[in-house]
Amino acid sequence: MNVRVLTNYLETIAPPAYQESYDNAGLIVGDPNWEIKGVMLCLDSTEAVLDEAIKKGCNLVVAHHPIVFKGLKRFNGKNYVERVVMKAIKNDIAIYASHTNLDNVAHGVNAKICEKLGLTNTRILSPKQKLKKLYTYADINEVEHLRSALLSINTDMVGVVEGSVYASVGAGSSNGAVRPEVRLEVNYHQASERDVVRTLQEANSRINPVIDIMPIENIHPRIGSGMIGELTKPMAETTFLKMLKKTMLAGCVKHTDLLGKKINKVAVCGGSGGFLLKQAIRQGADVFVTADYKYHEFFDADSQIIIADIGHYESEQFTIELFNEFITKKFTTFAVHLTSVNTNPVNYL
Ligand SMILES: [Zn+2]
Repeated sequence: MNVRVLTNYLETIAPPAYQESYDNAGLIVGDPNWEIKGVMLCLDSTEAVLDEAIKKGCNLVVAHHPIVFKGLKRFNGKNYVERVVMKAIKNDIAIYASHTNLDNVAHGVNAKICEKLGLTNTRILSPKQKLKKLYTYADINEVEHLRSALLSINTDMVGVVEGSVYASVGAGSSNGAVRPEVRLEVNYHQASERDVVRTLQEANSRINPVIDIMPIENIHPRIGSGMIGELTKPMAETTFLKMLKKTMLAGCVKHTDLLGKKINKVAVCGGSGGFLLKQAIRQGADVFVTADYKYHEFFDADSQIIIADIGHYESEQFTIELFNEFITKKFTTFAVHLTSVNTNPVNYL
């Protein structure tokens, strides 16, 4: 099985179109046609992880953080990014990253944190508008054919929104003659625009059928940043923070003042989630679990919520388990290894 089959599958789970603008998720090094010998899963594709991949016979490294974010101008091994890329190329190792696209789906990085903390009734904290609508026109007898072609590209995350295909009959005109035709409208996930348009072009017997595309304001509840959920039983603040530290294997939990009430609702965001604090407060979270908080930002808790900074690596480390679950559920033809390297650059005394 080649690299492309696996990366295509991972992209049905976390479509690249859902990554943030600054991101660089995708196949960063390697040939999509390479036959997969073994896969190494990690949070950061460091040199140590690559060495481990070589030792274990893996030629594909699947990471959460992209090793390359911006253009590289030289390859003389002066920094770790260049050395990792050079080592990968020298050893025929592909590096693939699923980053903010995996942060932004309801079954991704944040769902894993919720699962670890035992949260229920979970939902996306800040859903994104990622739906679009299109209109197309066809002969009346083609409606069923077009409808089933559209519904064939319907999954949970991508494709056509369930129940959104609607056909209305009207008067079209061609060559000066008015004739009945059907206007088909459909809502779809932005990430699948190419597939939806291609499907309609191929299925319609008209050459170059009219396809009008427009943005809509609807929010997709399963795509967006952070998550919020509830504990099965309210917990005292200190009990919760101790549980948090233990469960997330945190070297330390930096938190704001306790507020003297039980913890019930918990908002989470793996990595640097500070931008979601207002959402967490607005939605009644008692605590916001995230990372990368700076001194002045802690003041923003303002006695309305407890901010608990558990560390970036700590918050996202179980993403490796998540990759493993996705991949081993679907493929059994190659070995999948979870890295034994702790790539956390932060140590605690
Ligand atoms: Zn991260």
